[in-house]
Amino acid sequence: MNDQTHHTSHVIRVDRSTYRHLQQAVASGQLQPNAEHLDVMTHGQIYRPNVQMLNAQMLIHDRELQLGSLTITGEFYRVPEQEYTSIITASLGAYRQYPDVYPLLTALLSPMTPADETTWLQDVRFTVAQGRQLASGTDMVDDIWTPTAWLRDRTRLIELGGDWFIVLYVAQPPRRAVPEGHDVIGVDIGLNPLATAAWGQQHAVTWRLAEPAVPAGESAEVRLLAETLTYAAARAALEDLMVQVLPQAGTLVLETIGYAQFRGDFTASARRRAVADWHQSWGPQRAYARGIRVVRVPAAFTSQTCSQCRVYTLGTRQGATFTCPQGHVLNTHINAARNLVRRYWGLQARARRRRVA
Ligand SMILES: [Zn+2]
Repeated sequence: MNDQTHHTSHVIRVDRSTYRHLQQAVASGQLQPNAEHLDVMTHGQIYRPNVQMLNAQMLIHDRELQLGSLTITGEFYRVPEQEYTSIITASLGAYRQYPDVYPLLTALLSPMTPADETTWLQDVRFTVAQGRQLASGTDMVDDIWTPTAWLRDRTRLIELGGDWFIVLYVAQPPRRAVPEGHDVIGVDIGLNPLATAAWGQQHAVTWRLAEPAVPAGESAEVRLLAETLTYAAARAALEDLMVQVLPQAGTLVLETIGYAQFRGDFTASARRRAVADWHQSWGPQRAYARGIRVVRVPAAFTSQTCSQCRVYTLGTRQGATFTCPQGHVLNTHINAARNLVRRYWGLQARARRRRVA
């Protein structure tokens, strides 16, 4: 894409209840078919909303966006924190949220006892009963993220195989030059912990989170708020890891997309806990926007081989502990993250040999 502004883009699946309105907007010419290329989605028909719609654009709440006269329902809370803060700040006066959600969110940032879970769920019910209220500027005071610009004019809709998506763009701070010698950091993803980063002999790991079960009989509103909070807590843990890791990163090594999906019900859980979005979309985008390279390597056997041994040595995993026959004992996730870095250097060396030959 040929423009000066660094940005990240976020594809949100539109709820089926909105499809009919979108088709009407296409028929009336409010949404115009567009042949431009979007970096985020390579297939599907792109539609550009008309200028009045783009200008009159507000986030109404975590699942609703107003685009001119169109109300679009979707999982807008899936935008990462920094970008979400920017969109909400630009929507003040229209944006509504449940009162006192922050204590509910922070309660999820460490493990809970069953008694804690019961209390938490009661508080969620109480919050839902009060309804969403207009957010004020002071709700948005945030000591981590400085809002950047929501690039409203770039919002697009995409129809792909009968499904609709909306793409939102948010500006990123200016790119900094990555000094030579900055680290190659491997990030192993999982569910508990969500992510483990390793570079040299150092490592960083996401917080252990609570995920209270929501009983089947609960109202839709309570379930949705619990889901949004679970996502937000996981996202906060991943954002915190990024804050620790990105300042020292020159290259980020991630596993190839798709590998993780072979592990049981990992995909659904990874989607619920933000790590799928992080791994596929905003983690790499955030790194790129800061001038950090992102390299994906195949992750096969990275959790079964020893990262300390000079030669390929298979070890055994028991819970969070990895042991190799040579006596190396390591945390499983740190071992896997170090193996991603190792694989990166292996591929680099092979490419160099190929160039020399
Ligand atoms: Zn070993």
